Amino acid sequence: MTTLDLESSAKVFEPRSLRPGQGNGTMQRGSFVPLSKNYITRGSPGAVSYHPHSYSHPLPLSAAPTSPVMNSALLSLIHQIQLHDSNHRVTTTSRDKIKVPSGFLPSPEHYRPAISKDIIPTPLWTTLPHCILREGEPLTDCLLRAGMKETILSIPGFPYPYTNPSPQRYKIKPIRGKGIGMVATVDIDVGDLILVERPLVLMAITTYAVPPESYLQQPARLQEILIERLQRQEYEEFFALHNCKGNTRPHIQGIFDTNSIGIGRLPGFDGQCGAVCKDISRVNHSCSPNAEWRFDVETFTVALRAIAPIKNSEQVFVSYTDSLRPRAERQKHLLERYKFECTCPSCASGSHKSDEARMTLRLINEGDKCEDHDDPMLRDWVHDRTKPDDMILVKCHKTIDLLESEKYYRGARCVLWYQRLAKAYCALEDEDNARKWVQKAAKLARANTGHDAGWDAVVKNPKNTDWWGLRRVKP
Ligand SMILES: [Zn+2]
Repeated sequence: MTTLDLESSAKVFEPRSLRPGQGNGTMQRGSFVPLSKNYITRGSPGAVSYHPHSYSHPLPLSAAPTSPVMNSALLSLIHQIQLHDSNHRVTTTSRDKIKVPSGFLPSPEHYRPAISKDIIPTPLWTTLPHCILREGEPLTDCLLRAGMKETILSIPGFPYPYTNPSPQRYKIKPIRGKGIGMVATVDIDVGDLILVERPLVLMAITTYAVPPESYLQQPARLQEILIERLQRQEYEEFFALHNCKGNTRPHIQGIFDTNSIGIGRLPGFDGQCGAVCKDISRVNHSCSPNAEWRFDVETFTVALRAIAPIKNSEQVFVSYTDSLRPRAERQKHLLERYKFECTCPSCASGSHKSDEARMTLRLINEGDKCEDHDDPMLRDWVHDRTKPDDMILVKCHKTIDLLESEKYYRGARCVLWYQRLAKAYCALEDEDNARKWVQKAAKLARANTGHDAGWDAVVKNPKNTDWWGLRRVKP
């Protein structure tokens, strides 16, 4: 039915995960690191197909349709965009491969990572990827800010190919009392890909540089222009989505606010972005979700992966809200934003036990000093022999018991506890327990980031990590 709302969609890319062994971070796909060596080593810029006549039409925000004169200017501009758009599609659907002219890739001095507070951002309607490279690959209509398109196109090899599991692992179907939802058609394990999907539309939403009065008062018209650009099939798919907002706002805006998922930051823009997808936007909510999405800029897709086991015929759920908040706060948010009452086990039980467990988890997360790839708690325990052997084990098991009692496996902070426990058992040379927890850490790392972050090698041989025996080595 619904996912996150534009105003509340604030899922930022998670910090880099810990790598077993030296504790170094590994760069995650989808993380924003423009022109990093990660990008440079993959794909050749020469392989990128490129339409030589960019059809970017930046519209100064000051020209937003606040008067009849402005409206007429805007209508003319929309007409131009549509004309240009149709030309563009004709050209690109021929799938002619045109080599990138030398000098196309912007040099670092031309790269603009963020929009200055002093510059009024300009909306830009465009299509990404910039042309169709592979049979059946869809395009996403985007409302971007100036600078974003060039920065995304400068990723060597963009867009990377992507593949979906075959046969399909889900179906979209009516759910009694919940409109339409997604149901698994096979057993899906933690970390497994359910589907990967290029969004119908994508929007750069907010930034500290844009006061609400200059941008958010006009979203309906900006969104309308975006939807007018869609091809017939995508246009129909967009309008087939649910609008929980009724007559309280324009219909297109209602569909956006009901179905947008927060995809975090994209290259070239310091604010949040949101996307509407044909299928992933149909996934219903639970406060104990069994799936989570993640946007990958290199393929320009949203991937949905299982964060808990999903049996054949079970419904797939994501969370639309901060699920570690107390039940009453979650219910209030969901009712105000999405007009429904959550009936997940945690909400339905009505007991204080779930609230207390979630509040404890919240406090644990907030107090956790682990940053990026430095984990002081684990480091101090490894090096300080006055601390008991089981100190970390007790802390990890207590936290993981809470996570498992609430069936809450979202985010890097959750994965961290499994990784920490796996490393602690490795440090203590407890091979059976190390193997058990390394396996869980590997699956959750994949669920969270799309790749194993080096844990698969440790699953095969738990001694294959620099953590092995660290507590046994004399300091
Ligand atoms: Zn709930």
